[in-house]
Formats: sequence, structure tokens, C-alpha cells
Amino acid sequence: MSDANMDATGRLFPNYKHVDDCALLARRAFELIRDIYPICRSITGDGVRETLARVAHLIPLDISEVPSGTPVLDWEIPREWNIRDAYVADSTGRRIIDFRVHNLHVLNYSTPIRVKLPLAELRAHLYTLPHQPDRIPYRTSYWREHWGFCLTHRQLETLPDGEYEVVIDAELKPGRLTYAERLVRGESSEEFLISTHVCHPSLANDNCSGIALAALLAEQLGRGKPRLSYRFLFAPGTIGSIAWLARNRDRLRRLRGGLVVGLLGDPGPLTFKRSRRGNSEVDRIAAQVVRELDPAARLLDFSPYGYDERQFCSPGFDLPVGRLTRSANDMYPEYHTSADNLELIRADALAQSMFALLRIVERVDTNRRYRNLSPFGEPRLGKRGLFRATGGADPGEFEHALLWILNQSDGGRGIHDIAAGSGLPRAVVQQAANALVAAGLLEEVFLETPLANPEPSGPPETEVE
Ligand code: ZN
Repeated sequence: MSDANMDATGRLFPNYKHVDDCALLARRAFELIRDIYPICRSITGDGVRETLARVAHLIPLDISEVPSGTPVLDWEIPREWNIRDAYVADSTGRRIIDFRVHNLHVLNYSTPIRVKLPLAELRAHLYTLPHQPDRIPYRTSYWREHWGFCLTHRQLETLPDGEYEVVIDAELKPGRLTYAERLVRGESSEEFLISTHVCHPSLANDNCSGIALAALLAEQLGRGKPRLSYRFLFAPGTIGSIAWLARNRDRLRRLRGGLVVGLLGDPGPLTFKRSRRGNSEVDRIAAQVVRELDPAARLLDFSPYGYDERQFCSPGFDLPVGRLTRSANDMYPEYHTSADNLELIRADALAQSMFALLRIVERVDTNRRYRNLSPFGEPRLGKRGLFRATGGADPGEFEHALLWILNQSDGGRGIHDIAAGSGLPRAVVQQAANALVAAGLLEEVFLETPLANPEPSGPPETEVE
């Protein structure tokens, strides 16, 4: 393969050399976030479909619908949930908790109900945050049939005794779980996965920001000519990635690496969470990139808590998939509350997150990996015209690069790793690699080490052009 796919600077995204170059993308990301923020999403239902339809205005999507009851790994696709309206009304008929005012007011996946109850009984179905009394919590009950409402603790404290009318006009019945993919084909069939969850209702950072930046990254990749192929997955958290994994086992052998992305618009520092493997290509490159872009960047070791990296990094798959966020999970006070709204989203944070994504992808895409074909002792470079004839003089960068590549090219480390380890410029390292390939001392390799449990079994795939 040649570098003809890239511009003269060797960059996949030549228009994005600095974080400021991402200002327009950040503005467009915010427009999409604002557009999809009001939609009531869940792990199934029309909210996910409507969200994906808006994303499809930016990029073509392949939609998959998996029927309720389908077994997926150790799980089963649940019944589909859709909601039209929900409220609690006081004795005068006035709506005091109203789904139409904020969709967080309903416990997500609530079973339908229409009943009159005294406050004492209603209380068992009300959820608040006593320590954040002005915020509505985000609560779900996907796997246990239950109904409920979420409200501010301040409001709960003011509710007078009496009888309340409770209405949840929802449906929970056999249907489908929806997810979407966008494959940007590169020269190689090796794939890099970008996955984001699409199941949260009106929460801006935790969900909408990841959807928007993943969509724009897919758009930018679709305009370039990447070497690797990039698969974008927009799926409901946990059950969506489990469904995708269950239906794509044969594809996983081609997976070079990946990133779970989300929570990318808040003012917290860039945060990279390593894959379970800890030192895979994406782990090394993403750690480098976040450190370069953000002096306050956080690097987290893998833990089995968080988003869909839990599924990709489950031990049977053990995929080299890390996670890029800013303030992850419960690392920010607005997390899973009504305060995770559009006001939390910062243009500069979106721009920096976007730039980090572009840079990680660009670096993975150019991180060619090789195998030394003459690894027992150093091959004689002089007789091949690659090394100066006179010994003793300090070898130049090019000759240093030859030695570094020959020593480090075991199929795992790539051009960027060798450049970082040696302190030599990447362009020189690549130039030296090209010379060694031409001399028959080096060959490019295309796949990550075999998966822990490849399935279905069969010969390992080789590079397909
Ligand atoms: Zn969440």
C-alpha cells in the first residue's frame, strides 16, 4: 500500500492540525446535541429510532432491529418500551409531575399504570436526590417490572398529603431493539471500532455529546481515504453492545482496536481508560494523545465498571477497546441528573474532544506494523547498501531508525510506537521502514495478536485488499 491516500504532509485530516481548527465541528456537534437532547430515548423504542434518523442526516447508517426474546450471549432482547405521556396530578387535577415538562420525570421503562393513590403509597414510587435537592435524578428499571417518577427533593418535601392521580401512558410489548452502524471502508479490511451508547433520555453530556462527535468523526473519515476501515456503532448501552457482539463474532478477528466514546462536552479534563489488555496499540496511542492535548489529562486503568468497554473487554472477547471521555461516570456532580443539560456543554471542550478523536484515529491509521524477517542477530545492512561502509562514525537518524525498526518490529509495535520510543521523527522511521521492506528484511503485518477466544474457529484471516 502506498501513502497516495494522504496529502503531502502524511496526514489523514490535513485540515485539522490544531484544536482551533475544530471550532466549526464543535459548533455543528452542539447543533446536533441540541437537536437530539429533547428526545426520550431508552434501550429500545422510537426514541432510539428518532435519534438515529437525525444522525442519518449527517452520515449514512445501516440500521439493525433485533426482535424481543432473541437470546444474545447470556441475555435476551427485552420487550420494546414506548411512552406517550405520564403525569402525577393533585386532587384539583393539576399536573404536578409532568413527563411533558422533562422526560427524566418518568422512571425509564416504567410499566403502564392508571391509578389513584394516597401520598404515603405514592412515595414508594418517587425518586429524588436528597443531597442535590434541585435536580431530577435519572433512573431506569429495564429488567424489573416497575413504575415510578423522579422529581426534585425540594418538590417532594412540599407535596401535601392527599390523593394523587397517577398516569403512565406507555407500552411494553414485543418489538425490537435498534442499533445502527456506519462502516467507512479503508484500504484494509482491518477494522477500528468507535462505539457510543444511544439509550439515555434528556442528558446532554452523557449520551448526546458522544453521539454527535462520533457522527462527525464518521463524516470526516468518509471524506478522507483511510488505510484502515472504521466501524461506528450507535447502540443502546449494555444490551445493545451485547447484541452487536453476539451477532458479529466472526467480524471480531479483524478488529484492530477501538474506542468507546461519550461524555465529551463537559469542562472536565480528557480522560482515557485503558482496555483490559492495558498496553494495546490504542492504549499507547490514546494515552500519548490525551497527554499531548491536555496537561490535566487523566489515564485510568481498566476496571469492569463504566460503559460498553465492559462488554468489549469481557474476558471471552478481551478486545483492545479503550474509552475516551472527559468526566466519566460519577466523576461530575451533574452526572445522571437534570443538570446534565445543554448548559453543561462547552464549545472548547467539544473542540478539544473532537481534536483528540481525530488525532488518535490519524495516528492509529498511520501506525504501520512490521515483522523483522531476519531477527537472529542484526542483518548486515552495509552489503545491502543501507548502512555507511565506514564504522565508528555516529550513525545519522536514518541509520538509527533502521536499527530501531529491526529491533522493535515484532508485529506488535508500529511506526508511532518506535518513533516515540526512539525519539526519532516519525517520517524518518517510516522512510527507514520503506527501505527495509524494499531490501526484503521487513514485511508489514496487519492483525492484532489473535483474540482470546476467536469464534467461529477457522484459519486466521489475512489481509484483504
Ligand atoms: Zn449514563
